[in-house]
Amino acid sequence: MTSSENERTGTDFVRELVQRDLAEGTFGGRVQTRFPPEPNGYLHIGHAKAITLDFELAREFGGICKLRFDDTNPDTEETSFVEGIITDLKWLGYDPGEPLYASDYFEQIYAWAELLITDGKAYVDDQDTETIRAQRGGYGKPGIESPHRTRTIDENLDLFRRMRAGEFADGDRVLRAKIDMQHENMQLRDPVMYRIRRGHHHRTHDAWVIYPTYDWAHGQSDAIEGTTHSLCTLEFDSHRALYDWYLAQLPLPFEKPRQTEFARLELTHTVTSKRKLAQLVADGVVDGWDDPRLPTLRALRRRGYPASAIREFCAFIGVARTNSRHQIELLESFVRSELNRTALRRMAVLHPVKLVLTDWPTNPDGTPVVEHFTIANNPENDADGTRQVAFSGELHIERDDFMADPPPKFFRLSPGREVRLRGAYLVTCTGFDTADDGTVTTIYATHDPESKGGNAPDGRKVKSTMHWVSATHAVPATVALYERLFAAEVPGERTGDPFDDLNRDSRELLTGCLVEAALGDTAAGEVVQFERLGYFAHDPSEPLLFHRTVGLKDDWANIQKRAT
Ligand code: ATP
Ligand code: MG
Repeated sequence: MTSSENERTGTDFVRELVQRDLAEGTFGGRVQTRFPPEPNGYLHIGHAKAITLDFELAREFGGICKLRFDDTNPDTEETSFVEGIITDLKWLGYDPGEPLYASDYFEQIYAWAELLITDGKAYVDDQDTETIRAQRGGYGKPGIESPHRTRTIDENLDLFRRMRAGEFADGDRVLRAKIDMQHENMQLRDPVMYRIRRGHHHRTHDAWVIYPTYDWAHGQSDAIEGTTHSLCTLEFDSHRALYDWYLAQLPLPFEKPRQTEFARLELTHTVTSKRKLAQLVADGVVDGWDDPRLPTLRALRRRGYPASAIREFCAFIGVARTNSRHQIELLESFVRSELNRTALRRMAVLHPVKLVLTDWPTNPDGTPVVEHFTIANNPENDADGTRQVAFSGELHIERDDFMADPPPKFFRLSPGREVRLRGAYLVTCTGFDTADDGTVTTIYATHDPESKGGNAPDGRKVKSTMHWVSATHAVPATVALYERLFAAEVPGERTGDPFDDLNRDSRELLTGCLVEAALGDTAAGEVVQFERLGYFAHDPSEPLLFHRTVGLKDDWANIQKRAT
């Protein structure tokens, strides 16, 4: 089910094709690609694969790549999606330039439709969608010609102009290409070119009541822009003959663009379909398109995924012509290794319990002494420097770092045991208090003043190093932990409905966390490592809300170990 086909071979069948075209002088040595989203939702990780292919290919071969909005459906498209797509594309690291719009070509595409009518290659059909669909037939099942197929050119032209003029109701008539109702490829059985729809278009507003179908608009838009290599996903494989047929009917003054298909990106435990993502948002399963559990680019950004990690992941999986589903852990491993290099280390206690040092000194005025320890910001990168972390006699540690009655292999804090408080002191547990229900409320310990910085001069070893925060210096924070949004590796595999596999407990919000003071100064959107816990992204707009990006454990390495 999963595949690592084509991993970093440096080349792939698309690049080989372009190389051949350049060698043979096809397209006059030009390479022009386009990324053509429909603005009916935001970009997701699947789009990132198409974007990196389209943009990197153009870059590698000295060509250009354009962002073109395939905005031919007024019902579902919105300006906010246009703007969001541009923002997300830039964030991913690509320059969209001046975006292009299929809707800017409506007049030209309409004129070409009249040309097809005049050439006897298109006709107006009065039948409804269901009838047309039923008449299409199927494999081994003949198609049925529409009774309107033999209309005269004049009658077709007149009806088509009246369709445009708004004389007919939505759905009353369509324009169809006159190809072959017995063609073995269903796409060529007189496909619909125009439908009547009185939606309000986000750019052309109410100028049109007829809209071209995807197939009739896509290749024509490619041609108008001078696209050479039109890359799309495999489900359009059977549409290629139609793409070519339409272009062959038109008086194009240059080499026609060529469509090439590659496999969609799919990931385990998630869905990469705008329609399904929109459903999750509409149903309130997630909080919005940027909910960190979604695979949209805005959600991944908010969750702390570096754009470079997404690009590297896309380069690593490569492109091929067989559909495959990649393990989400592979993507996470790219995120983790990037963050390991760049993220500053900080201490944060997610489930705090109080630790009191009974032998901690006090100042002459009776207040506890405060010490400051210098701790490295990132052991992976000396240039990140150090910071001062305040330490005093009252601390908080992680609740599960203490056990009153530990099993043999538990080496963290327990009565009588000595552990290291990261970068500070060795401390030995002397006792604890509990509430009536047995919950530990306070842990007591003494410290070895000789072990300042975390090591004893006699070199004695302790088995555990624990993170901590000073009670009076810590800052309260909220931390969101995430599990997979879909419990199943392949959502929908069992029942056919991915929503049956939704994990309704995919977010745990911890409100009582205590984090070191430096985290109060973390920039919005910055990702840091909470020592021993994982990488966490500071929310872009909510101060002191942190989202867990990924844990520290390399699950991908484990998956591979299991596989070999
Ligand atoms: P969705 O099914 O998510 O709505 P779409 O194909 O309808 O996807 P578009 O906005 O039309 O979305 O896609 C723009 C481009 O991105 C197209 O060329 C499409 O083939 C490509 N694309 C969309 N989803 C994926 C994916 N999962 N993997 C690779 N490319 C994709
Ligand atoms: Mg699409």
